[in-house]
Amino acid sequence: MGKIIVGKQAGFCFGVERALKIALESREKQKGPVYILGSLIHNPRVVSDLEKRGIKTIHDLNSAERGGVLLIRSHGAGPQIFKEAEKLGLKVIDATCPFVKQEQNLAKELLRDGYQVVVVGDPEHPEVQAVVESVSGCALVINPLNIELLNKEDFRPKVGVVCQTTQKQENLNRVVGVVLPLIKELKLYNTICNATVQRQSEAYELAEKSDILLVVGGKNSANTRKLAEIGTSMIPTYHIESIEEINPHWFRGKEIIGVTAGASTPQVQISEVVNWLKANLQEV
Ligand code: SF4
Repeated sequence: MGKIIVGKQAGFCFGVERALKIALESREKQKGPVYILGSLIHNPRVVSDLEKRGIKTIHDLNSAERGGVLLIRSHGAGPQIFKEAEKLGLKVIDATCPFVKQEQNLAKELLRDGYQVVVVGDPEHPEVQAVVESVSGCALVINPLNIELLNKEDFRPKVGVVCQTTQKQENLNRVVGVVLPLIKELKLYNTICNATVQRQSEAYELAEKSDILLVVGGKNSANTRKLAEIGTSMIPTYHIESIEEINPHWFRGKEIIGVTAGASTPQVQISEVVNWLKANLQEV
């Protein structure tokens, strides 16, 4: 007998929903090919659904046909991409999440005001790379997982910080705690997105109440992986993309099953998991 608790915040955030809407509207309005540079969101199912609707994901601008439409995904892109796309005769539609745009603008403002720009986040993440490009590469990226390597020589006296929108608050706090004693002045913009904060605190609450946690969403989604990390630090947690990955043995002896999902997971994917649980485990 098990009880299923589904997180109220689970699933698409405002930025992802907006980007998808823009993509589908563009497809309807445009006659020519529609491309997205990089996956619109980090969810393979959504990406393949978009392909079926005629919205092609590309990883190189040169593979787009002249006259086509290029969508910029919610993670944003650096100014060079906008320029190159125009040069190649593509019409650019910008679906960058407004919160990511704000992060880019704040980084530019810090640079303009003479601060050394620091971006706290994963240097490999496209959002972080786009922020760095928006200040022409003049930024130091600090990965919260590698802060023990930082020293005074890495910094100028005036440092301005922005943060990848999907970072955990404690990661940003940790970086600030290390950097602050090394410098004279710190200007901090906490650009962690509220949607992320809400999902992460709900993941803590769910893990507290549950015996096992299922986190649904793309394995390549940073915000989904963070939810799984939170769960794993507290109870047995499984990050799954589909019901095919579920192993019924996980639920042996477990009474309360928590289900949550990242900001890039569509409702249909969450419902499939919940329906599987309802069909295969007896609910209280
Ligand atoms: S998580 Fe926040 S910043 Fe990222 S796309 Fe969603 S709303 Fe925008």
